[in-house]
Amino acid sequence: MTGNEIVDEMEKIFPNAKCELIHETPFQLLVAVVLSAQTTDASVNQVTPALFAAYPTSKEMAQAEVKDIIPYIKRIGLYRNKAHSILNLSRELEARYDGIVPSRYKDLMSLPGVGRKTANVVRSVAFGIPSFAVDTHVDRVSKRLGLAKPYDTVEKVEEKLKRKIDRDRWNQAHHDFIFFGRYLCTSRNPKCSQCPFTKICKKDKLDAYKQKQ
Ligand code: SF4
Repeated sequence: MTGNEIVDEMEKIFPNAKCELIHETPFQLLVAVVLSAQTTDASVNQVTPALFAAYPTSKEMAQAEVKDIIPYIKRIGLYRNKAHSILNLSRELEARYDGIVPSRYKDLMSLPGVGRKTANVVRSVAFGIPSFAVDTHVDRVSKRLGLAKPYDTVEKVEEKLKRKIDRDRWNQAHHDFIFFGRYLCTSRNPKCSQCPFTKICKKDKLDAYKQKQ
């Protein structure tokens, strides 16, 4: 199956895959993505409505202190580091970008706590620029479906997905892969009996590779 055929199948199962992080502006999306590191979107969504009500833009957040932010995000993992990150992020945005989230990779990735995955999500979801963010779900699903090799880095996975899937489908395909990985091809106990990809699945090969590591 080609990359595009795989996306076609995923879209039959999940016709409404979309970004699940609650946000109203590029700044709020950026903060939500930073907060989502090593935790679920659902737990981020439990804390962001109150956080964004108190600090709706980088202007308000830049004036806060870490101790002001912590109570809002205390329920999610790594909250101390994340409080520092979103505060520094807000201050940098105010100091260097007039409070406006930039869309260029170079600018986004110069912000504290923003790596390539976060930059890709913001470019794709907030600005509609064709991008393919590779998170843990996208990485696992790509490797199980043979679109990437077990040993590929996230950068390599991104490169291969972009080569194998049409550019005008990247933004939606990113959400399709995440929904497929989050709700069907889960890390543990994937629902293989409901999966249309059993014939091409390389999960055994991937598991064997991981065991050797
Ligand atoms: S067969 Fe199972 S492990 Fe393989 S892609 Fe489908 S759900 Fe994932």
